[in-house]
Amino acid sequence: ILRADQLTKRFGQTTAVADVSFSLCRGGSLGVVGESGSGKSTTARMVVGLERPTSGRTYFPGTPNARGRDAARVVQMIFQDPYHSFDPRLTIGQAIEEPLRLHFGGAKSERRKRVGELLDQVGLSAKQADAMPRALSGGQRQRAAIARALGIRPQILVLDEAVAALDVSIQAQVLVLLDEIRRETGMAFLFVSHDLAVVRYITQDIIVMRNGRVVESGATEGVLAAPQHPYTRLLLDSVP
Ligand code: ATP
Ligand code: MG
Repeated sequence: ILRADQLTKRFGQTTAVADVSFSLCRGGSLGVVGESGSGKSTTARMVVGLERPTSGRTYFPGTPNARGRDAARVVQMIFQDPYHSFDPRLTIGQAIEEPLRLHFGGAKSERRKRVGELLDQVGLSAKQADAMPRALSGGQRQRAAIARALGIRPQILVLDEAVAALDVSIQAQVLVLLDEIRRETGMAFLFVSHDLAVVRYITQDIIVMRNGRVVESGATEGVLAAPQHPYTRLLLDSVP
């Protein structure tokens, strides 16, 4: 459903990402791990089209609309702090409803009902639909962003440290929810995280990045159980 082919991104003299290739199947979950500055976010941003690769490209096999008007239904991205992805003038409910109107139309009452269901799914109460984005905590806003993305039912969800700011019990709840959704809908995840326990739970395969390059890749269990690359061993050893 997604293939990245030798993605490279340079910012001036800095090479943020160098020759990164991977593929993701329907219903698959690929983790991207690596220390701060290793190029994880830049890779994610190229996949969703927020950053233009210096060279290389991404393909969306079998999804002809990936670049056009319906691109939002192919791939959605969740950021670590989604504050800036909410329009400050809209309530949370309106923010979740708007893409539903845009992509699916239907009756307003139906959409309202769906907003309630989505909020409930991510552990928010229906009355939070009337809150403004600034009135929510970081964790609540994160869950609202996940609800909004899920409402669009994209084929691919790119999550960049999406659960990092949540407290542990909410984090577990959101991870279980995401995993259920993936299995039920066949949605695929590109899951950027520095938390190896989270990555172990939510992904089947991983790539390990260092200085913009992929230094190791494979099945998550295998890589974490028997890392081949010295850097991956170091990364695992640094987990307290
Ligand atoms: P973190 O774990 O801290 O989020 P990361 O793995 O996501 O790190 P990136 O944000 O992809 O790392 O950054 C990779 C490199 O690219 C860093 O050296 C960073 O300074 C550089 N970089 C990223 N975005 C830009 C930009 N817009 N302009 C210049 N340099 C950038
Ligand atoms: Mg990052």
